[in-house]
Order: sequence, then C-alpha cells, then structure tokens
Amino acid sequence: MSDTIEKVKCLIIGSGPAGYTAAIYASRANMFPVLYQGTQPGGQLTTTNDVENFPGYPEGVTGPEMMIELQKQAERFGTDVRHGWITKVDFNGDVHKVWVNDEKEIHCDTVIISTGASAKYLGLDSEQKYLKLGGGVSACAVCDGFFYRNQDVVIVGAGDSACEEAHYLSKLCKKVTMLVRRDAFRASKIMEARVRNTENIDILLNTETDEVLGDGQVVTGVRAKNNITGDTIDIPATGFFVAIGHKPNTDIFKEFLDLDETGYIINVPGTSKTNIEGVFVSGDAADHVYRQAVTAAGTGCMAALDAERYLAAKDSTFEVSTSTYN
Ligand code: NDP
Repeated sequence: MSDTIEKVKCLIIGSGPAGYTAAIYASRANMFPVLYQGTQPGGQLTTTNDVENFPGYPEGVTGPEMMIELQKQAERFGTDVRHGWITKVDFNGDVHKVWVNDEKEIHCDTVIISTGASAKYLGLDSEQKYLKLGGGVSACAVCDGFFYRNQDVVIVGAGDSACEEAHYLSKLCKKVTMLVRRDAFRASKIMEARVRNTENIDILLNTETDEVLGDGQVVTGVRAKNNITGDTIDIPATGFFVAIGHKPNTDIFKEFLDLDETGYIINVPGTSKTNIEGVFVSGDAADHVYRQAVTAAGTGCMAALDAERYLAAKDSTFEVSTSTYN
C-alpha cells in the first residue's frame, strides 16, 4: 500500500464516451479531473468497427479512432488520463475514497462513474476470433446492423433485447435466424409476438450455437445444434449477433450505491445524481435502455455539470465556470 494519499476534485472512472465527455466538461470547468481508463481503454466502442450514427462524422469513424479523438480532446483541456483499474471504493464519509490497483489511495470531492456495461458473449473460440477480427460478430444490432443490409444474419438470445434487435435487423436484412436455447422465450409476450409475426425472422427453438463458421477473415455461417435431437445444421450468414444480455460494471459500488436487480446504478431521474452526494453516474452503468455512444456522451456532460454545481454549492471559493452554461 502506498502511504501518500492523493486528493482530487473530480475523479472519473472509465474511458468510454461518457467518461471522456465528462472529462471535457469537467476540465473546462476548472475541476482538474483525473480519469482512470480501466482495463479496456476506450470502452465497448473499441470492439466496434465503424460508427456511423454518432452525429458529426458524416463519413463515419471507427470506434477506436473515435475514442482516441475523445481522449485527445479531454487531454487538450487538461484532463489527467491515467492507466489503472479502480479496485475498491469507500463512499461512507464526506470525502470519497477510491483505490487504484489495490494500492494507491485517492480522496475525491466528486466521483463520476462511467464504468459502462459489458455485453455477454457465448465464449466460443470461433465467436471470439471473428469478434476480434471485426469480421462479422457483434453484440449491437443498432450499431452494426446497417453493414448487413440485404444479407442473412443469425442472432442468439430470447430476451427482450434479442427480440428488439432481431426485429431491428429484420428491417435491414434479407433473413434473420434466431437461435433460442429453450423451447420458450424469456422476452415479454408482446416482444415475442413481434418476432413471431415477422415474416423474415426464422426462429429455431431448443437450438444452441455450436460454432461460428468463417473463412479465416469473416463470418460465413453458423453451425447450430438442436439440443434435443443432437442434429446440427449450417446456416449461411455474414453476421452473427449475440444478444444474451449485458452486465453493468458496477460490482465495486454495490455496498454503497442503490442498484437495480440487474446491477445498473439507479440515478435520480433526469439527473446524474446517485444516492450518495458527490457521486454521479453517466453512460451504460445506469442505462439498460438506450446504450448508445451519443446517449452516454450526453449523460457524461450532465454528470460533469452536476458535479460542478455540487462543488460550487459546497465550497464558496469554487467558481462555477460561466463557459459551461453558454
Ligand atoms: P435477458 O437476461 O432478459 O435475456 C437473455 C436471453 O439470452 C435469455 O433468453 C437467455 O436464455 C439467453 N441466453 C443467455 N445465455 C445464453 C447462452 N449462453 N446461449 C444462448 N442463449 C443464452 O437479457 P436482455 O438483454 O434481453 O434484457 C435485459 C433487461 O432489459 C430485461 O429486464 C429486459 O426486459 C430489459 N429490456 C427491455 C426492453 C424493452 O422493454 N424494450 C428492451 C431490451 C431489454 P434463457 O431464457 O434460456 O435463460
């Protein structure tokens, strides 16, 4: 353990669009933010190829490029961006305590949590291979569906997300095959009915993914197995979508913050405030509904403004910057 305790006005945890946007606003408001990137600098977008739905990029941009640009923008205004993983927090007192890599202790006036959520994957080697290659495996139909226009795709999952994404894909793709591992959906009846009533969605019940097939570069199909008969079929497809749920990265906060039953942080509606004063949340760590880069960036901005107002109310010597409210 290190014996020197660092003090910071604003600590931002996470380096996706939410964290970097919070950093841009917080640094412009003289909050001297320190941002810890976590184990996946850039967050979920670094596993996406092209981002074509973020306003301001008429030609699109790759996820990793966009995250580098956001980091540069935050650093330009003075954000101290650091490698490191926040392993523990203590939000019991007036000063919020945070530990980096179980070693360094930091005392923070405000904390902005932007730790995001992680899409769950099946874990098959072939799935991970094409995911890493950017060759046709995706966990976000809204982000990537466009690249599969008029093509055949396969989606795995049977919850509300899978139904919503299958329906979204059905409007773009020629055919969507949905693999459901049980003989029933988990989704709400209305969502299930929607996919069942869509002509170009083919539903295979009691069916699991055996392997994602490909040519070494891109996906060419999916081998699916009926878990009752043991029969396998090869389904030709150029895209494989995984919609088996997300896990918010909030485990270290659960002792202190109000979380919903799936682990998302509960914010005060319309704000980024949590149940602990001085601790704010932005991005997917509190959002299981929209989960978009642009909504995450929007709530990052809100968190920095909320933190700034909190500091101003607490400390009369801290001046609220006028620029942020222009
Ligand atoms: P869920 O946990 O609800 O569903 C996950 C689905 O993935 C289940 O059908 C599950 O199967 C399946 N699954 C899990 N692991 C595997 C695996 N290894 N192989 C194959 N299938 C697997 O997650 P969602 O993301 O769908 O939803 C999360 C929450 O968000 C829910 O509360 C949902 O209602 C809500 N939501 C609401 C929406 C809306 O109202 N518009 C839209 C999207 C989400 P099984 O059923 O067999 O366990």
